[in-house]
Amino acid sequence: MKTVGQRLMEWFKQNKRELPWRNSTDPYFIWLSEIILQQTRVQQGLPYFRRFIDEYPTVKQLANASQDKVFKLWQGLGYYRRAENMIKTARIVATEFNGVFPKTSGELKRLPGIGDYTAAAIASIAYGEKVAVVDGNVYRVLARLFGIKSVIQTTQSKKEFSSVMLSLMEDFYPGTFNEAVMEFGALHCVPQNPNCNGCILNDRCFAYMHKQVQELPVVKTKKKKKKLFIYYFVVEWNNHLMLNHRKKNEIWKELYDFPSAEYDSEQTDEVILKTIKELNFITPQTVTITTPFSRVYKHQLTHIDVFAQFIRISSNKKPILKRHQNLYLVPRNKVTEYAVSRLVDRYLDDVE
Ligand code: SF4
Repeated sequence: MKTVGQRLMEWFKQNKRELPWRNSTDPYFIWLSEIILQQTRVQQGLPYFRRFIDEYPTVKQLANASQDKVFKLWQGLGYYRRAENMIKTARIVATEFNGVFPKTSGELKRLPGIGDYTAAAIASIAYGEKVAVVDGNVYRVLARLFGIKSVIQTTQSKKEFSSVMLSLMEDFYPGTFNEAVMEFGALHCVPQNPNCNGCILNDRCFAYMHKQVQELPVVKTKKKKKKLFIYYFVVEWNNHLMLNHRKKNEIWKELYDFPSAEYDSEQTDEVILKTIKELNFITPQTVTITTPFSRVYKHQLTHIDVFAQFIRISSNKKPILKRHQNLYLVPRNKVTEYAVSRLVDRYLDDVE
């Protein structure tokens, strides 16, 4: 009888998606795809991967790029910390490793933005290191197959699932085996209503045989997310828009948006109109405020649910720009050259 590993490998051969980084063992391509896919679905990430490879075919070329250019290319993917770490890692690999990624998961983990998962993926796919990749798909497949009831995504369970993966890996090429399990979870053993009756592993599957498919894997109960209410002031003057360069210690750090007021609860229009009168970069008597304000844009970040409204303020008088405030007047037709958050991009798409 075929082993679980053999069946998964056969399934992968017949069902895997053709993805550009799958035809390569170039660690740069693998790394780039893994960073892009860390919080992004494959379909959304694909065009970004292609754009990055076109623009920067090697890690040395990426290392020489400016942060603004990389952020612009990244625009729409969100979680800019990934892009920031990507540049740092590219620069370290280019300068300290002469453009060649380190060959073990242990060394790879020392680079910015590379955690256990990404290090294992690069080392196993590009270099054949026998190390297990454990992502959400792997947790789901193994928890169901073997009836593992440990709460997933803890340090303890990571070790447990990792050792189960290694015991299944046999002599298969580690990278391909890791990809096979992940792909099986992504396409077949999906979170809701997987096709168990047509599954190649149903005669070995604990969850199927014990009717526990929906109960496994066991996940941590999520913390309640914080709410953030942002009121953006879209100041227009003489065919220019005022942009704000966000500071390093803020969300969307170093991206551009509009000046704003932020609260942890929803505010009435009266409160916001009063706030506008107190803004020190416009002269209240010279502005016209468009009401009603824009619709509410909902935007989800990892720990925060954002609710944003945009308020158009036309000024007859040139706004006052103070250096420490990071405010800039930008010709309207040049705004698209600035890297903005996905939230601001959605607003600009609606109005521009
Ligand atoms: S039988 Fe169902 S739960 Fe078990 S591995 Fe197959 S798809 Fe997943």
